[in-house]
Amino acid sequence: MTNILISGASIAGTTTAYWLRRHGFTVTVVERAPAIREGGYKVDVRGAALQVIERMGLLEAVRARSTDMRVATHYDAQGRPVATLDAALFGGRTGDDLEIMRGDLNELLYDLTRDDVEYLFDDSVTAIAEDGTVTFERSPQRRFDFIVGADGAHSTTRRIAFGEESRFVRDLGYYISICTVPNTLGLDREEAVHASVGRTANVYSTRQDTGAKALFMWSSPPLAYDHRDVAGQKALLTQAMAGAGWEVPELLESVRGAKDFYFDSVSQIHMDHWSKGRVLLVGDAGYCASPASGQGTSLAIVGAYVLAGELATGGGAEGYERELRPFVEANQALGPANVKGMVIDSKAALWIQLKLMRLLPRLPGRDRMIERVTGPIHRAANAISLKNYME
Ligand SMILES: Cc1cc2nc3c(=O)[nH]c(=O)nc-3n(C[C@H](O)[C@H](O)[C@H](O)COP(=O)(O)OP(=O)(O)OC[C@H]3O[C@@H](n4cnc5c(N)ncnc54)[C@H](O)[C@@H]3O)c2cc1C
Repeated sequence: MTNILISGASIAGTTTAYWLRRHGFTVTVVERAPAIREGGYKVDVRGAALQVIERMGLLEAVRARSTDMRVATHYDAQGRPVATLDAALFGGRTGDDLEIMRGDLNELLYDLTRDDVEYLFDDSVTAIAEDGTVTFERSPQRRFDFIVGADGAHSTTRRIAFGEESRFVRDLGYYISICTVPNTLGLDREEAVHASVGRTANVYSTRQDTGAKALFMWSSPPLAYDHRDVAGQKALLTQAMAGAGWEVPELLESVRGAKDFYFDSVSQIHMDHWSKGRVLLVGDAGYCASPASGQGTSLAIVGAYVLAGELATGGGAEGYERELRPFVEANQALGPANVKGMVIDSKAALWIQLKLMRLLPRLPGRDRMIERVTGPIHRAANAISLKNYME
């Protein structure tokens, strides 16, 4: 019986666990957090990833928990509404594309696997020997046939097997921060946005959420900071947003008390190979596309499906790379392109963007303009023809 260890129990880890089990492997998942991580932010599931979700029998459940966001409104520095867009268009979603809170999706995936997959919470891999013997922080040493790193953009598995993160990171030149704040704007399934040159603040509230999420993005050269120093990171955010209008000062005040503060550079992971010996990488660990791509979750789901399928049908690591790489490249290309539309770098470009948004409903070439935004995302999301590995 082939024994496989997965490091990380988020989207990539739980989806890989599900498909490996369906193919008959014995699966253990080790997760650093004490339990499946709840909450988080909203993520999109599109194209080929929806087919995988359907093959898992989860499509209706994911649809039932989708965010159901209605509109996104841009405000100027004085708080006047400047333009309102349909939320799906704002998020680059078309057709059946879905948006769901990451925690909700993760819970559905975990529930599907918890009965026949061994989960080790509150633990982490510390060493991997060539023969597959894995040393953990807390659990006793064990041997596995394969070790799958699904532990995110800052993957420990990748560091152990492939080397330091800096060798694989491509910094897109922006930072992102997100946390829960009180819903003082009374948002109901809607987003409120204020963009100024080089920085954007966004607050949204979803149907399931009585609170709101505040998300900030700004352009910046690389910042030196300690990953464990949350107060220091909050100070960097406050500095980056200093002098911004609209509700930004009040939001920053709320951020001070936030318990789930997330802060990171907007970066991608690029690697020549996603496997080395017995170790394979899936999701953000191997090919993070950055939050700006809007495709990280879909990449993780499709990557998990292909990885498990290729291992089960004899394609192995080579088959995984061959099948998945063009899809990964198409989706990673969205990151640098999209981020420029999310954080605008000049006054003139900002003026044009807001003007276009305001006039969009009445513009003669409306459909063509919308296609220019959603078309590349839609094409990348469908840039793979999924094999049926269960046949
Ligand atoms: C602010 C933000 C907004 C985003 N918006 C979107 C969006 O709109 N659409 C979209 O598709 N994607 C979006 N993404 C990206 C998306 O969240 C990720 O691409 C996706 O979750 C990838 O999943 P993953 O399982 O590969 O990694 P992650 O979700 O990062 O999960 C890694 C898991 O590994 C665990 N872990 C870490 N280290 C260890 C260790 N040493 N041992 C054991 N476990 C460990 C972590 O606790 C975590 O559970 C966004 C990301 C961010 C940060």
